[in-house]
Amino acid sequence: VKSFAMKQVGEVGWIEKEVETCGDYDALLKPIAVSPCTSDIHTVYSGAIGERRNLVLGHEAIGEIIEVGKKVEDFKPGDKVIVPAITPDWNSLDIQDKSHQHAGGMLSGFRFANLKNGVFSECFHVNHADLNLAHLHKEISTESALMLTDMVTTGLHGSELAKIGLGDTVAVIGIGPVGLMAVAGAKLRGASRIFGVGSREICVNLAKEYGMTDHINYKNGDIGDQIMAATKEKGVDATIVAGGHSDILKNAVKITKPTGTIANLVYFDDDDEIPLPRLDWGNGMAHKDIRGGLCPGGRIRMEKLSDLVLYNRLDPGKLITHRFYGFNEIETAFKLMKDKPRDLVKPIVML
Ligand code: NDP
Ligand code: ZN
Repeated sequence: VKSFAMKQVGEVGWIEKEVETCGDYDALLKPIAVSPCTSDIHTVYSGAIGERRNLVLGHEAIGEIIEVGKKVEDFKPGDKVIVPAITPDWNSLDIQDKSHQHAGGMLSGFRFANLKNGVFSECFHVNHADLNLAHLHKEISTESALMLTDMVTTGLHGSELAKIGLGDTVAVIGIGPVGLMAVAGAKLRGASRIFGVGSREICVNLAKEYGMTDHINYKNGDIGDQIMAATKEKGVDATIVAGGHSDILKNAVKITKPTGTIANLVYFDDDDEIPLPRLDWGNGMAHKDIRGGLCPGGRIRMEKLSDLVLYNRLDPGKLITHRFYGFNEIETAFKLMKDKPRDLVKPIVML
């Protein structure tokens, strides 16, 4: 079947691949809608997770089931489903020991376009269908549902990792689609003042809609200085990092109060070491909690996020700025994600 793949580090293109066999607990799907992610760009062009040859890209999809294994109970051919970016092996004993994202090895839940072929294919395989797929609710649009698979689960996870409480002041560094969902997550969790750091007008406008109260442009000077001045040198209770390069945690540590939390979502791909600022970190003793995580996946997560949309707590469809139609357009959408024109937030391809 025709698939859009990473041919090697720095090179993408179309390939033909064999259809995987469907295990007893698994499913084979055809995509209905897909979207490229900034992470695919890091994987291909920085080789950040290592060399991959002819690996099918893509980990954001809404799909239709073609075939299910004989032990699959809740899904059948023809069902329309949400396919989370993170699809762990729920049979791994490690699930009892570690978070599902890392059961069986660090980042092992990140299977599509990392450990196995991704979703940019006329037919793709999903392990543990009953535990990883979620039915697409008929009152939720395909577009909104597609955003749940990665952007919403990741951005909202930022607000979970940052342990945001009622009335907290929060900074979200980076307001691309992930950061925008982190802004929305901060608001849902009861943040009061929400700083958003970015420069593109379309993202700034959307960030305001999702709950940003103060905009900071990193192109107008040091973010740390700007946010410290705006908070009368107190800093914020929590910082979510959803953009910037490997030195961005220096800003995050600086602007976060002692005992505050820093939650990183960025997939770092540049330097091998990530610097921290000694003095701003109280020489290491400031009780600034620095965390970072891969987004949660699995069926229950997708169902809960779906409920946020169903009960009008969140409208992730607003992230979509570019729509393409037809399988061949996956390449166009992917290239757009690499080039990041100023009017782009998230492109999708309807199939
Ligand atoms: P985008 O590239 O769309 O957004 C990045 C944001 O960071 C933009 O608002 C940009 O500003 C801002 N930015 C860029 N440089 C700086 C800087 N020096 N200082 C401050 N802000 C800056 O990315 P996405 O939202 O798509 O993804 C964000 C990150 O999340 C990526 O690294 C991605 O790989 C990762 N990711 C992680 C996941 C996880 O599970 N943890 C899952 C999915 C994605 P502007 O463009 O306005 O100038
Ligand atoms: Zn992603």
